[in-house]
Amino acid sequence: MRTDGPPPGQESHLPDATRQQSGFAVIGDGPAAVLWDMDGTLLDSEKIWTVSLADTARWLGGELSQAARDDVVGSNMARTLTIMFDDLGLEQDAGRKAETAAFLTIRTGELFAEGLIWRPGAQEALGTVRDAGWPMALVTNTERALTEMALDAIGRERFVVTVCGDEVPHGKPAPDPYLRAADLLGVDAEDCLAVEDSPTGTLAAARAGASVLVVPCDVPVPTGPGRVHRESLVGLSPSDVRGAHSLARADRAA
Ligand SMILES: [Mg+2]
Repeated sequence: MRTDGPPPGQESHLPDATRQQSGFAVIGDGPAAVLWDMDGTLLDSEKIWTVSLADTARWLGGELSQAARDDVVGSNMARTLTIMFDDLGLEQDAGRKAETAAFLTIRTGELFAEGLIWRPGAQEALGTVRDAGWPMALVTNTERALTEMALDAIGRERFVVTVCGDEVPHGKPAPDPYLRAADLLGVDAEDCLAVEDSPTGTLAAARAGASVLVVPCDVPVPTGPGRVHRESLVGLSPSDVRGAHSLARADRAA
C-alpha cells in the first residue's frame, strides 16, 4: 500500500490535510483503493442513456431493440455504435458513426445538464469510503467531456484520479481503464476493490484482477469468482468494504 501521495505528475484532488490524515495507509487488511464505476453505480444515468440512445436511433431512422439497449449498458462509444448500427441494420460506416457519436454525445450532455440522479446510498457510500481513508478513483467508459459534466455534480475532489473511456486503448470490458487507474494511484489492481453495476464493467474489473463489489442496476450481472454481490449501496460501511474485498479475494484464490 502507498504511504505517500499519488505518482509524480498525477495531481491529487484531495486537499493536503486530508491526504496526510489518511496517509493512504490506515486500512489494515482492506483494499489499496476503491475504484468506482459511474453510470448505474454512482449515478442513475443509465436512464438518461436510455433516452439519448432512443433519440439517436430515431435520428438514424430506426428503433433500438431492448436487447441492444441492454447489451450496450456499460459499453464505450465504439462498441455502443457498432451494436446500434447492427441492431438498426445499418452499414458500419465510419463517417456516419462519427456523426452519430457527436449526436449521441450532445443529446446525452443536454440530458445530463438537466440534472443527475444518485443511485440509492451512493453519495453516502462515497463519503464513508473516503472518510475511512481509502483513495478513490472514478473509472468510467463514458468520455471525458460528459464525465466532466457529471463530476460537477458528483464532486471531482472526491477522487484522486479519474479515468475515462476515451483515454485508454480499449474501454470496458477490456481491463485497460482499471489498469490505468491502479497505475495512476500507484497500487496493484489486484489489491483494489472495484464497484460496478453492469456485466461489461464487472468483466473489465475482473480482467484487471480487481475484486468486484457488484451492485446491479438495470441488468442482472452473473456471479463469478472474485465477485461479491450487494443489492444496493445503502448503508455501506467500512467493514462492508473490507469484507467484500477479502471475500472476493479469497473466492478468486480458491
Ligand atoms: Mg455502469
